Amino acid sequence: MVRKKGLVSILALTVALSTALAGCGGKSDSKADDKGAGTTAPASTTKSEKVEKKDLTFMFRGGTDEQKAYESVVKKFEDDHPGVKVKIIMTTADQYATKLKASITGKSVPDVFYYDPGDLRAYVNSGTLLDLTPYVEKNTNIDINNIWPYGVNFYRYDGNVVGKGNIYGLPKDVGPFAFGYNKTMFEKAGIPLPDKDKPYTWEEFIDVSKKLTKDTNGDGKLDQFATGLNVQWCLQSFVWSNGADWLDATNTKVTIDDPKFTEALQYFADMQNVYKITPTIAEAQTLDTYQRWMKGELAFFPVGPWDMSTYEKLPFDYDLMPFPAGSTGKSATWLGSLGIGASSKTKYPQEAAELVMYLTASKEGMKMLVDAHVQIPNLIDMAKEWAATPGKPENKQEFLDVVNDYGRAIPGTLTYNAEWYNLFFTDIQPVLDGKKTAADWAKDEQPKMQKLLDNALEQEKKSKK
Ligand code: CA
Repeated sequence: MVRKKGLVSILALTVALSTALAGCGGKSDSKADDKGAGTTAPASTTKSEKVEKKDLTFMFRGGTDEQKAYESVVKKFEDDHPGVKVKIIMTTADQYATKLKASITGKSVPDVFYYDPGDLRAYVNSGTLLDLTPYVEKNTNIDINNIWPYGVNFYRYDGNVVGKGNIYGLPKDVGPFAFGYNKTMFEKAGIPLPDKDKPYTWEEFIDVSKKLTKDTNGDGKLDQFATGLNVQWCLQSFVWSNGADWLDATNTKVTIDDPKFTEALQYFADMQNVYKITPTIAEAQTLDTYQRWMKGELAFFPVGPWDMSTYEKLPFDYDLMPFPAGSTGKSATWLGSLGIGASSKTKYPQEAAELVMYLTASKEGMKMLVDAHVQIPNLIDMAKEWAATPGKPENKQEFLDVVNDYGRAIPGTLTYNAEWYNLFFTDIQPVLDGKKTAADWAKDEQPKMQKLLDNALEQEKKSKK
């Protein structure tokens, strides 16, 4: 853990240094300079009669179904753009960030690549990302107003505020993190199905959960549980719906010691330790909760759009519902996004921008991705049609409700870096194990997180100089 952190900061420092040097020289080291043309405005290729061969690299990550889907779209892009060849660089989700940072340090940035919206400011300030605005404005095949504004705003930056100004990427997708339930299990138990529009209160959720946690084969051991939620991806819902958050409104103060926050965290831990509606720690080690959900042993589990292709093959019927709501009475969850951007050093900015737009904003590309059941449509009109189409899950509208109504950004993406936020999850285990109360733990943890947040604020200031 320590080693890894050290490595990342060394890389970050190297990036900062090399950028500073490039800035002083005022001369790009890109080979594109040899040719002169093609580095500024979108250039036309009509000069030469022979089709110039243009090689692009595209680096991305994803599950098996997602890989296949993106490979097909890239193939279609090549068919539609004679002369352009796209070399795909695939990595696992775990290795992606490290590999991308290394390629930036080594000045071998792929022409087109995924990036986390949390890195937008650093990548723009260091001159890594191509400004896509002129290409988006010129392309009459795409309509930026037909893409979820929430998604697009993640990749706008005016040098000061994210969400405004020029476009440095387009959303690969927006990822509403919804809540799902095993419909077959409810029907077997004779329990009314969860309401699509009215979330359970926390009490109601525990009541139903207790009824669904049982020993079904009479061997004296529980084999069916209500749930088993990953703290890193599910706690947000409980905290937010209880009217609390990790940060204050200015994103400069860590607020995890707020009583509304610790109440939510305590409730989350109590699901295992007090209400006993989840597998025990030992049971979850034998078979993790994702596997148990897949086998039909859990009543509730989160569902992202990227799960749809896999969940089609589940041995039971599932559907979506609103997350249980705390004291605000309103559901909450996060809405993620991953961006696709282009390198400012690409030899072929026009083609690189075209590929970004093809993958994120074209009707042809989007249709193929949606048909592969790996994401919800980026295009608003297509999404409405999609939600009304029969197919699992039935209540697809819940995904769109998260996008339109109750989804929020992960707190770690709102700041210059996420180290303060990641520390929370590194240190949380004693609360989950019931060894410390949420309130006691938060009192000790807040100053540690605040120190890292202060560092991030300081780094942001420096990067702008
Ligand atoms: Ca049993």
